[in-house]
Amino acid sequence: MSSTLTIPINRRALRRMAGARSYERGEGYAAIGRIGALSEHDGTITAKVHASPENRVTLWVEDEGLESSCTCRVGANGAFCKHCVAVGLVWLEQGSKGGGAPKVPGRPAVTMEDVRQYLAGQDKNALVDILLEQAMDDDRLRRRFLMKAAKREKDHAEDSLASYKCQVEPTLNRKNDEAYGKALGLLRRIHLLMGRLGRSCEFPRYLESARSAHKPKRNFMKLLERAKWS
Ligand SMILES: [Zn+2]
Repeated sequence: MSSTLTIPINRRALRRMAGARSYERGEGYAAIGRIGALSEHDGTITAKVHASPENRVTLWVEDEGLESSCTCRVGANGAFCKHCVAVGLVWLEQGSKGGGAPKVPGRPAVTMEDVRQYLAGQDKNALVDILLEQAMDDDRLRRRFLMKAAKREKDHAEDSLASYKCQVEPTLNRKNDEAYGKALGLLRRIHLLMGRLGRSCEFPRYLESARSAHKPKRNFMKLLERAKWS
């Protein structure tokens, strides 16, 4: 892949990749100077977007198309997000100031350090999901997790109980059927652990508080109605 390829990277292309809404938000970011210094290395353009949390954008060219990655949630799903738009716009602007078309980046040299940084920027629940999915395909990893979980529950029942309770809200707030199923699984663990700790009497009140806090989530309510707690 030559780095001198001319590919149509311009405002219109960025808008087409991002969609009108993300494009406009990206324009806003670029306009108020949220983009840190652009660094070009090994044919990739990298920049930090100063927002809360800070995101890191990488742009490069692959198979004559502009590719992107961003550490934000939208970018993590592979979308060309507003941060990518902003970095693209700043890049175009710098190229036009320097005279002539900006140099088109080539293939990236991604290292495991980049992977580590990418993972470190991800949401904890998303990482847990990735590990769980991986463990379902990998017997050794699954056994390892099961053993660790069993040991933790046995040795630190109080901690496990607290941890399960903390996970219920964020899980339910993902608002989809898969998450509701997971939340029900968490409630079952909570029920079991309360029993083990001699605190079974707390469970009905705990369950009721979850029920009333999440009443609008109808599919979750249906799951709760069908659940047996004996
Ligand atoms: Zn982003």
